[in-house]
Amino acid sequence: MAKFFLRKKVGDRVVNGHPWIFGNELGDTEGEANAGDIVEVYSYNGSFIGKGYYNPASQIRIRLLSRDKNEVVDDTFFYNRIKEAWEYRQQIGYVENCRLVFGEADQLPALIIDKFNDYFVIQTLALGIDTWKDAIVAALQKIFSPKGIYERNDVPVRELEGLQQQKGFLSTPFDTNIILNENGLKFHVDIENGQKTGYFLDQQDNRRAIQHIVKGADVLEGFCYTGTFSLHAAHYGAKKVLGLDISETAVATARRNAVLNGYQDICSFEAVNAFDVLKQWVKEGKRYDVVMLDPPAFTKSRENIQKAITGYKEINLRGMKLTKPGGFLVTASCTNLVPPDLFLKTIDMAAKDARRKLRQVTWQTQASDHPILWHVPTTQYLKFLIVQVM
Ligand code: SAH
Repeated sequence: MAKFFLRKKVGDRVVNGHPWIFGNELGDTEGEANAGDIVEVYSYNGSFIGKGYYNPASQIRIRLLSRDKNEVVDDTFFYNRIKEAWEYRQQIGYVENCRLVFGEADQLPALIIDKFNDYFVIQTLALGIDTWKDAIVAALQKIFSPKGIYERNDVPVRELEGLQQQKGFLSTPFDTNIILNENGLKFHVDIENGQKTGYFLDQQDNRRAIQHIVKGADVLEGFCYTGTFSLHAAHYGAKKVLGLDISETAVATARRNAVLNGYQDICSFEAVNAFDVLKQWVKEGKRYDVVMLDPPAFTKSRENIQKAITGYKEINLRGMKLTKPGGFLVTASCTNLVPPDLFLKTIDMAAKDARRKLRQVTWQTQASDHPILWHVPTTQYLKFLIVQVM
């Protein structure tokens, strides 16, 4: 097995728990390694740090899988890691639907597995983990005997690893339109064509957080996707809910979800650009008791952070203006490039521009089945805030 040595003065981040090693952090090597191979990593002075997979084509040259010199990376290794991840989810109470494997936080860098009851959706986002796809699928078969496993590797980030985008069955084919239960509601999920893995499990706890503020309320949701927050609002007693999304398919599913739960008379959905519509409605002086906003990540690259901040500020400014005095704004951001303090600052700037005072109700992050691993900042990515807009 090839050995890679970190350069002098590089290493604290890695020693403290970060599993990524960048190309410019590597110095000497011993032995040859091919793309996807498991290699060993040592500090400059030769102490063992860990082992992981290697990809010379990626800026993230090595991602560590283990810090134990004696641990062998083979099919059993993946079975054990996935089993541990499942035991952890059970321990913290996420059983029916959960992010079963959350990459780095489960010591399985670049691997995502979502469990939707008896169905599993997987993403292998780096070459070194993609190599083990068969072992991962075999582990899922063995632990869960699932009704279906599907690959949603239609993600651009794979190209940075020299991988193709692709999707398809990893088990015998099944009907990819499924229904899942969450907080007493039912949702249609399109595993094959839905966004990301089909459903945003990371907001499952946050959806419950709106319970008390929506009673009897007139609610507006921008960026509603399949209507999950809107339906929770109806479920918790909202009088009227309007959800907006730019995607026609998302809106069609949202409408079907309303019917599925018997809330078609309370919830309605429109396929529009929320930026334009919210701007227009501010002008028209429309007002709601509760406004909910969960826009997509406005940036995937560091260079565009400022643009993303402007986007968040703009949309939240509109959201606040549309909120009646004393009403509530429910707002989220899912990009890890905007850290929590910067998100709060952005909301504060929007409040200043809107000349409104905010009173904080709830400030939380993604559901705990997406664990935050300390010293790995990218594992904390979701910001979720409820404020009263005075
Ligand atoms: N809150 C949802 C997830 C929202 S994801 C949930 O928990 O299920 C963000 C959504 O914003 C996507 O559905 C996407 O289609 C939508 N979107 C992106 N740009 C938009 C725009 N300009 N106007 C309205 N919706 C938009």
